[in-house]
Amino acid sequence: AKQDGGNTLRFFAPEMQAHTRRSLELASGLKHAIEHGELFLAFQPQCALGSGVLTGAEALLRWRHPQWGLVSPAEFIPIAEQSGAIVAIDLWVLEHAARQVREWDAQGLPELVVAVNVSAAQFGRPHFVEEVLATLRRVGVEPQRIEMELTEAVALKQPEQAEITIRKLHAAGFLVALDDFGTGYSSMSYLKRYAIDKLKIDQSFVRELVDESSDQAIVTAIIRMAQSLGLRTIAEGVETAEQAQLLQAYGCDDMQGYWYSRPLEPQAFAAFAEHSLQL
Ligand code: C2E
Ligand code: CA
Ligand code: CA
Ligand code: CA
Repeated sequence: AKQDGGNTLRFFAPEMQAHTRRSLELASGLKHAIEHGELFLAFQPQCALGSGVLTGAEALLRWRHPQWGLVSPAEFIPIAEQSGAIVAIDLWVLEHAARQVREWDAQGLPELVVAVNVSAAQFGRPHFVEEVLATLRRVGVEPQRIEMELTEAVALKQPEQAEITIRKLHAAGFLVALDDFGTGYSSMSYLKRYAIDKLKIDQSFVRELVDESSDQAIVTAIIRMAQSLGLRTIAEGVETAEQAQLLQAYGCDDMQGYWYSRPLEPQAFAAFAEHSLQL
C-alpha cells in the first residue's frame, strides 16, 4: 500500500507542505500582528434599498502580512479561531471600530451604526458582554452605535447560553444581527426566542437571484418571515442594479455589496459618506 500510494503522495506532498507551512507561519504571525500594527479595518457601507441613504457599515478585518502581503480574513480567521488568537483579535476589532465611530462623529458624519463580527470563541466567553461594555466605555462610545453580527453556527453552539447572552447584549443597547442567514442549520424556532434585530441574507442567495427562481423563492420567504417577526433584513453581496431592484420589490430593507460600495478604508469611507449626503 505504501508503494501504491507513493506516487500520489509524492505528487501532492510538496503542495500540502507548502500549505501547512503557510498556515503555521500565519498562525505564529497572527500572535504578533496586533503589536506590529499589521491589522487594519475596512468599512463596507450599507444603505436603505428604497432611498439609497447610507445607514451604517460593517467593519471587516484586513491583515497586511510582512511576507505574504494582504491575507484574506477567509483564510486567517479560521487559523485565528484554531489558535485562540481570535479572542484578542475580536476585541481589537471592536475597540478600533468604536474609535472610528468616535472619529467620524467628531468629523460631523451622520450617526452611523457600525457592525462587527463576533466569533464563537469570543461569544462563548463567560464575561463577553462585560468585556465588550468595558471596551466601549474606555473608548467613549454608546452600545447603540454597535451592531453585533453572529452567525447561526455561533448562536446555536450553546443555544441556552446564547439566548441569555443575546438578551444581555440587547438590554445593554446593542443591535444584534444574524449573519449569513439561510446557510446554517435552520434556526426558525430560535428566531423568535432570540432577541435578534436583523437578518443578513447570505450572498449565496443573492448571487444568482435574477436568474434562479429557487433563490427568488428562498429570499422572498426569508423577507416575509422576517417582516412577520418584526425583524429588519439586509441583503449581502449585492453586485448589480437588477439584484437591488428585485430585493427592493421583495420588501428587503437594506443592502450591502459592491454595487453600493466595496469595503473602504476610513478616509475613503468618510469621503463616501460626505458625498452620499450631498446627493
Ligand atoms: P462576512 O461576515 O459574510 O463578510 C462579508 C464578506 O463579503 C466580506 O468579505 C466582504 O468584503 C464580502 N463582500 C461584500 N460585498 C460583496 C459583493 O458584492 N460581492 C462579493 N463577492 N463579496 C462581497 P471579507 O472581508 O473577505 O470577509 C470574509 C469573512 O471573514 C467575513 O464574512 C467574516 O466571516 C470574516 N471576518 C471578516 N472580518 C472579521 C472580524 O473582524 N472578525 C471575525 N470574527 N470575522 C471576520
Ligand atoms: Ca459579517
Ligand atoms: Ca455575512
Ligand atoms: Ca459569509
